[in-house]
Amino acid sequence: MRRRSYGSFKKIAGFNPSNSVVPNDIELRVYTDKEWDDIINIGMMDSVDLPDPKYDVWRCPICERVYVFQDNRVIKYYVPHNLDELKEV
Ligand SMILES: [Zn+2]
Repeated sequence: MRRRSYGSFKKIAGFNPSNSVVPNDIELRVYTDKEWDDIINIGMMDSVDLPDPKYDVWRCPICERVYVFQDNRVIKYYVPHNLDELKEV
């Protein structure tokens, strides 16, 4: 199981990730369609043998921001917006 250094993440995100619990609702498993296709093409495998996605993705349970990690560092985050903002004026 992958583990992140939480100190710097807590500073950025403002919450203390409780993903030391497995399973948890913080870590998301996000595969691209291509990655998923490659996995399926390997053939039947035990679910514990599934390769990790390229990026680690965490969702804050409070504000629902989504953080993307690469090499143990946050490289992007996404902030939810109200869908009304998409409506044409
Ligand atoms: Zn948050």
